[in-house]
Amino acid sequence: MITKREFYINGEWVAPKVARDCPVIDPSTEDVCAVISLGSEADTNAAVAAAKSALPGWAATPPAERRRVVEGILAQYYLRKEEMAHAISLEMGAPIDMSRDDQAECLPWHLKNFLKAFDHIEWIKPLGPHAPDTRIALEPIGVVGLITPWNWPMNQVTLKVIPALLAGCTCVLKPSEESPLSSMLFAEFCHDAGVPAGVFNLVNGDGTGVGTALSSHPDVEMISFTGSTRAGRAISAAAAQTLKRVTLELGGKGANVVFADADPKAVERGVRHMMNNSGQSCNAPSRMLVERPFYDRAVEIATEVANSIKVGPASLPGGHIGPVVNKRQWDQIQGYIQKGIDEGAKLVAGGLGLPEGMNKGFYVRPTIFADVKPGMTIEREEIFGPVMCMIPFETEAEAVAIANDTPYGLTNYVQSQDGARRNRLARQLRAGMIEMNGKSRGAGAPFGGVKASGRAREGGVWGIEEFLEVKAISGWDVSEDVAAE
Ligand code: NAD
Repeated sequence: MITKREFYINGEWVAPKVARDCPVIDPSTEDVCAVISLGSEADTNAAVAAAKSALPGWAATPPAERRRVVEGILAQYYLRKEEMAHAISLEMGAPIDMSRDDQAECLPWHLKNFLKAFDHIEWIKPLGPHAPDTRIALEPIGVVGLITPWNWPMNQVTLKVIPALLAGCTCVLKPSEESPLSSMLFAEFCHDAGVPAGVFNLVNGDGTGVGTALSSHPDVEMISFTGSTRAGRAISAAAAQTLKRVTLELGGKGANVVFADADPKAVERGVRHMMNNSGQSCNAPSRMLVERPFYDRAVEIATEVANSIKVGPASLPGGHIGPVVNKRQWDQIQGYIQKGIDEGAKLVAGGLGLPEGMNKGFYVRPTIFADVKPGMTIEREEIFGPVMCMIPFETEAEAVAIANDTPYGLTNYVQSQDGARRNRLARQLRAGMIEMNGKSRGAGAPFGGVKASGRAREGGVWGIEEFLEVKAISGWDVSEDVAAE
């Protein structure tokens, strides 16, 4: 069992100021696999103070040097990526092959994309020929608080820490108390890469403790948050008194609109995407809207695919799905399945209880509901488990109306051979991201949502800009520019 009670503050691992142990449960076995500490306001204050005193030095560090330090984090990852994959599997239950190939690999993928975007940032530039002595400068916003969830732990940590460091900010990371192990390993990468003391700090804790202390802290200029819409509201309220910048990446209820002319493989692809990571992805295509002539066939295909998906422990190699993260999440998903049955949706695959032959671990049967009606609870609320709704539609306008009629707006999907129709829907669907015919977003594309899915864009140049202030300077001595040329 791993025991790691310390926090990473000012370049060293320090004991918590107030002892408060927290077990980390392996969701595959329900055994305690680690013990960490939950931090207090005093721990948060110490981390913020370290970040504040490191800020002037790091903000003034030339961009090329900040880039070099970030490249060092990538080098540490390559040395220890197997450890990272194991930490993620243990803490949140992703099967080991998926942890290696997807979960852990989010770190190099995003980091390299950020470096490409970083090279194109103009830190100071003239406004234009009409105002020769006006300069527009980009500057780090300051000390930032980064609060992350457990479902794609290294994805979210990388999407926040790396652009913050590149921008010249110093930071305090509070990872999810469910998935602290991967973040503590990430802190070791930062240390060994030579990130200067105080530039990156980590305090474990829960939402009401460290989360609230960070969100309301007067010396924290910005909170970058990924997690539930509920917590996003609480953070915005806690941050309001200090008027800090708050960026939010929240929940989703993705619609996957499948027209009768779509490649039939689109249904299988949609089900597999939904069940990936045991349905615990904010951009999961959890509502499959199918045009009526293709609907019955699509339900048959989806049922077969769901029934063929194996469920098993994270330690086993293979393409199965793992457990969901904890008992609370398992209970919540069972509650939604019961609600679907009670509200009259047709259960065609999976259902209540543990998969056959299992009696331990937080495993959920890959579940499909057909004949779901718009407005049913399972159609509107984020379930965050391997449960997909299928809804028939008659016209394109009806599909758009159903797709847009949830509080969320993160990712929607369109499947059709008709290019003009795809382009039309891409503009009419209200979401931060639209993915069509199985094409995923290009490297460096922005990730984020609208409505209750949040207010932020992460990844690429947009992700770095979130951490920058824009300063307009007039009366600039242009002779300095000439001298520098
Ligand atoms: P959560 O909101 O319960 O927790 C997320 C983080 O916020 C954790 O670190 C938690 O400790 C902290 N937190 C909770 N309450 C807080 C509070 N009042 N103040 C400050 N911090 C608080 O979410 P979760 O269960 O860890 O993650 C699942 C949710 O995250 C889902 O809704 C999912 O859709 C969403 N998510 C969104 C994205 C995105 O990019 N849009 C990505 C991944 C996950």
